[in-house]
Amino acid sequence: MFFVLLCANITVQAKSLALSFDDGLNPAFNVQAEQINAQILKHLHDQQIKSIVFPSLIKIGDYQGKQLIQAWGQSSHLIGNHSALHQNLNKENVSAKDYIKSIEQADTVLKTLPNYTRIYRYPFLKEGNNAEKRDAVYQWLAQHQYRIGGVSIDASDWFYNQKYLDYAKQQDQDKLDRLKQAYIAHLLHRADYYDQLAQLTINPSPQHVLLLHVNAINAAFLKDVITAFQQRGWTFISAADALQDPLYTQHSQNIPAGESVIWSIAKTKGLEHLRYPAEDAPYEIDNLKQHGLQ
Ligand SMILES: [Zn+2]
Repeated sequence: MFFVLLCANITVQAKSLALSFDDGLNPAFNVQAEQINAQILKHLHDQQIKSIVFPSLIKIGDYQGKQLIQAWGQSSHLIGNHSALHQNLNKENVSAKDYIKSIEQADTVLKTLPNYTRIYRYPFLKEGNNAEKRDAVYQWLAQHQYRIGGVSIDASDWFYNQKYLDYAKQQDQDKLDRLKQAYIAHLLHRADYYDQLAQLTINPSPQHVLLLHVNAINAAFLKDVITAFQQRGWTFISAADALQDPLYTQHSQNIPAGESVIWSIAKTKGLEHLRYPAEDAPYEIDNLKQHGLQ
């Protein structure tokens, strides 16, 4: 019996995962900002998971929003940089010069916070629509001792958050319950998709980083999300550890550059039938239908 169990264990590839949270909230525009922020921190504390938050100044606003980010550092999570203006580097009208200025501006404001670290996450995961811009920013980051806060598993929590806010407003508990299951299924599905893509391209499975946001749906459901991943054999690791994976130091060879690092490598290698990188709403219709939400 023992022997059988041992063999079964060997055949299961260990999959590890870190959580990262983008943007942050501005209490001036979101009355629930403080509560959402605190609830997410509580879930992480209860599950003993160390994460990283990537605030963008335009998303957090002034003093109050910065206070919420400070709480992440005080709870031993890392604080990274997600720029001041949250610009899309793939847009024609965004120059490398302005873009870099926006990274510097955020650095000036955020570096006073505890556990601030020079790790940069590109807004929208866009790393440049031409080689000059792409390489100018890579070069600036390297020269300023910045690492890239890459993502291996891209997901659409922003889409499910919109549904969550609608159903919460309607006080529709049945729909909220269904949505929780749909959201968990969505995240597990994305994780499996990118892990399989990793096995096709960079085998073995890397130390994954999942992209989430500081938002209401994660405040409500994160505990159940974490449990569901654990039940499916995923182990949670700290974001600091995951981002040590050499996978995240690689520069994209593609134009346009960016997206999930695994997707980007698959694209460079010429893998066919890759899904469109933008994690868009049409992908979610079937999942919503399966959970009785369409
Ligand atoms: Zn963002």
